[in-house]
Amino acid sequence: MCRHLGWLGKPRSLAELMLEPPHGLLVQSYAPRRQRHGLLNADGWGAGFYDIAGSDEPRRWRSAMPLWGDTSFASVAPALSSHCVVAAVRSATVGMPIEASATAPFTDGTWLLSHNGVVDTSVLPTCAGAESVCDSAILAASIFSRGLESLGELIIEVGAADPRARLNIVAANGSRLLATTWGDTLSMLHGSDGVVLASEPYDDDPRWIDIPDRHLIDARGGEVSVTALEGSR
Ligand code: GLN
Repeated sequence: MCRHLGWLGKPRSLAELMLEPPHGLLVQSYAPRRQRHGLLNADGWGAGFYDIAGSDEPRRWRSAMPLWGDTSFASVAPALSSHCVVAAVRSATVGMPIEASATAPFTDGTWLLSHNGVVDTSVLPTCAGAESVCDSAILAASIFSRGLESLGELIIEVGAADPRARLNIVAANGSRLLATTWGDTLSMLHGSDGVVLASEPYDDDPRWIDIPDRHLIDARGGEVSVTALEGSR
């Protein structure tokens, strides 16, 4: 399972969010604390973010190499700041390609989306536009095609069709952060400057809370709602 992170709030650098925290994505790439599936996340990393002023189109930097070896990203990340970020480190599911295009975050040109989990793609509605044959890329294309307003419904449907699926999602569009828990961990820190969602807490701040399984998180305009995915049990 991969580890992912979403941020919506006051601008923060990618280094502050991913590299500097004592248990941030950089450390999670080789020593995650709560990972249930897989030991480390060495099969690539990705960061997507929105310009503070300017285009609504997200910017992405993805790689199939381990985050810990990327000295170019470490050099530039302190200078890349955004109010809305989706980032991930990857532990590829057996049989999936290890390539940048299979690495989250995926995009439809408006949303950024990361999937932490595994899914049998034969249960997904057919749709065009997947960035890779990786299950997460095909799931992302299905979610984009249905529309993010229906994220919870689609996750319930896919979870029912593939009972072994794990479907933790983090998605954002620059002004809204959405996430699901379905089979893996997710924690939230909602502070005065914004909300961060992460597969596991990136530090030992006592304000982190664990999101229960099979829930939908919706953050926008300083408000956060956490609701059970109806009919999921
Ligand atoms: N199944 C996805 C992949 O192969 C995600 C894996 C994960 O969450 N570790 O990339």
